[in-house]
Parts: sequence; structure tokens; C-alpha cells
Amino acid sequence: MIPRVKGTDDILPPESAKWRTLLRAFDDIAARYGYDLAVMPVLETTELFARGVGAATEVVEKQMYTFEDQGGRSVTLRPEFTAGIVRAYLEAGMSGVVKLAAAGPQFRYEQPQKGRRRQFYQVDLECIGDPDPRADVEIIEMSQRLFAAVGVPEVSVHLNSIGDAGDRAEYRDLLRNYLRRVSGDLSADSRRRIDDNPLRVLDSKADAAVVAGAPVPLDHLGPESASHFAAVRSGLEEAGIPYEIAPRLVRGLDYYNRTVFEFFSPAFEAAQSSLGGGGRYDPLAELVGSRTAVAGVGVALGCERIVAAMPNPARPRLDVFVAVADTQRSGTAAAWVRFLRGSGWRVDWTGGDRSLKAQFKAADRSGAAVVAIIGEEWDAGQVRVKRLATGEEAAMNIEEVGAWLKR
Ligand code: AMP
Repeated sequence: MIPRVKGTDDILPPESAKWRTLLRAFDDIAARYGYDLAVMPVLETTELFARGVGAATEVVEKQMYTFEDQGGRSVTLRPEFTAGIVRAYLEAGMSGVVKLAAAGPQFRYEQPQKGRRRQFYQVDLECIGDPDPRADVEIIEMSQRLFAAVGVPEVSVHLNSIGDAGDRAEYRDLLRNYLRRVSGDLSADSRRRIDDNPLRVLDSKADAAVVAGAPVPLDHLGPESASHFAAVRSGLEEAGIPYEIAPRLVRGLDYYNRTVFEFFSPAFEAAQSSLGGGGRYDPLAELVGSRTAVAGVGVALGCERIVAAMPNPARPRLDVFVAVADTQRSGTAAAWVRFLRGSGWRVDWTGGDRSLKAQFKAADRSGAAVVAIIGEEWDAGQVRVKRLATGEEAAMNIEEVGAWLKR
């Protein structure tokens, strides 16, 4: 036996049914908001993340799967989607507003635990080229729609603004001064960050008590990022989306400016419990080499955590399991199974060579809502049906089965 690699998961039935629900709902919502599909490479040039995500971030410093390929290039298994998608936008010579949806695995070398994997799956939305605060609201609204569609309860939105680079230069000095004053009480990790990435100290769990009195970015926004933030807030209010201001929420990556947000639900609790997060990243395009500024805002949602917060599927796995009362009718059954599947029903059967008892057992195990039995009534144009949950049985004309199933 060769086991799977530490921190990776095999996602198999019955758990995978929830994944199918999630990925379908994501695809549906993306399409309804005009987000086209982007299918992105898993491998990117290491430099993309070093420059885009930021060399002093935890992801780039410690967590990347980076190696030299046979041609001597340094490549990295993507730890996140956004940098690659903005690279693709630029590389394809796109311009104006482009809205993209992507789904796929990410890789980060982390200490594996609940909701923290080395290979994990994200669904991701990016609205590139739009500086309007309405785009921030749209991304948050879509995320909330997705949580509602898959049944994740009571999702709260934590919202903050970290301002623009200009606002932050001044603020960062204030924060550094504060952190230096309390550095004796800070964890070693946070002490190390005072110089290269002091904002990260703000959302350090270990130092929550110490940083409770630190200055926060919200109190140091310039006029433009302040009015942007006000517009995001009133947009959320108009959309009927409740949110909480989280003044110490900063997010781990360097490319963010202005709006940042994360989602939480009481249905998923862990040391790191955000179901997803995102924000505005107007500086990113230039960080990865664009000569002109390209605005953008996006979100990445963690599928493992969302699935853990989803209820078990209420809908049966199959609509109909077809059983055959005598083997002579297997050919008839095969044709009818094909017809039902062609009509959009979810149908399975065992092939009809087994005893009726064995077929019923298989039907029970299959998680079907209904068993339809093909027997001698078929010659009179009829089939027997039985709802497995209630035991309700009926004989009916074959053409009526569709309408009966719909009920
Ligand atoms: P981040 O941009 O790092 O906040 O990631 C966005 C979302 O991806 C998080 O809110 C999580 O739901 C998910 N995520 C991030 N890292 C991991 C991981 N190592 N394992 C599982 N999910 C993760």
C-alpha cells in the first residue's frame, strides 16, 4: 500500500456528493452574474508569486511548492489563483472589465489539520479592470448567494479597509512605533514582522490581546479610500447584506488595497476558520509587470471548509432505480433506462440478471427515491413504482411515470 501524500485528500462518495452540489452552484451563480470560466495552469513561474503575493508574506516565505523543472526554470504549484489570473489577463492583452470564475486545487506547505490542507480546492471569482465599489459589493453578494445555495448557515461577513499604498505608508510607521513599544509582549513571529510586514501582526491570533490597542488602518484612510469604503458599505446595505466591521482584518497577501473581507459560519469552527476571503487588489497588475494600472477585486472560497459546513444532501442520489422481474425483460429495461436518462432523470440499474431481492438491495444501497419494476404489466403498457422512503406503491402507465416522479 502506498498511502496518499500528507495533507492531501481523496474526495470520494458519499462526501463527494456535496462537492458536486457546491461546484454546480458555483458555476450557476458565476454564469448568472456574467462571470466567464477561466481554466488556469497549476504551474506558474515562481517569480509571479514572489512579486505578486509578496516576498515577505508567509505563503511565499514558507509555504510554496517550488522546484526547478528539467529545463532549469523555477516553477511553483500555485498557492492561490489571483496572481495567475491577472497574469493571464495581461498576457492575453485583455482590457476593460473582465469577470472570471475559476475552480481548482491550490498548494501550500502548511501543518495539516482540520480545514488546513497542503492541497486544497478553491472556487474563485475575479472582477478585473473595475475600480467601482459596486464590484466589491457584487463579489461579496455572489459569495453570500453561494453559501445560501448550498445551505451553509448564518454566514457573517467581516469587512475592513486597509486603504491605499499612500495611506498605508504613514499608518505603517505609526503601527511600527506602537509594536516596538509592546514588542516585549509579542510572539517571536510577530516581533520578526515589525520591520518587513507589520500589518500582519494585527491579525495574529497569538497576539490578539497585545494588538487590541494598536492603531488600525480604518482610522488612517485617505479621502479616496474612505469614500470607496463608504460606498461599499452603503452598497451592502442596499443589497440587504449584513456585515461586521473587523478593524484588524488585513489578509496575508501584499497585493491588497482598500476593501478586504472574510466569511465565517458557526457550522465551521477551527483554528483557522474563514470559509473564504478576498478584497481589492488594484496594485497587483503593476506588481507583476503591467505598465499601466489595472484595478481588480476578487474572492477565493475554500471548498473543504464549505463542504464541512454544508448539511447532508436532502435530495436522493438517484431519481429511479430500475429493477427487472424476469431476465427476459432485460433488453426492454435497458432501453427504458436509456430513455429515462435521455429525458434528464438520474437513473441506475444492475443490468437485470440478478434476483429481484438482490436488485431491491442494490436499490436501497443506491440511495434512489423510487424503484420501478419492469414485469409482466409492461406488456399492458404499465410499470410498478415504489417510493423507498414511504413504501408507497402504485402501478401506472409508462407515459405517466415522469409526471409521477415530478411529484
Ligand atoms: P486565503 O486567501 O489564504 O485567505 O484563502 C482563501 C480561503 O481558502 C480560506 O478562507 C480558506 O477557506 C481556504 N484555504 C486557505 N488555505 C487553506 C488550506 N491550507 N487548507 C484548506 N483551505 C485553505
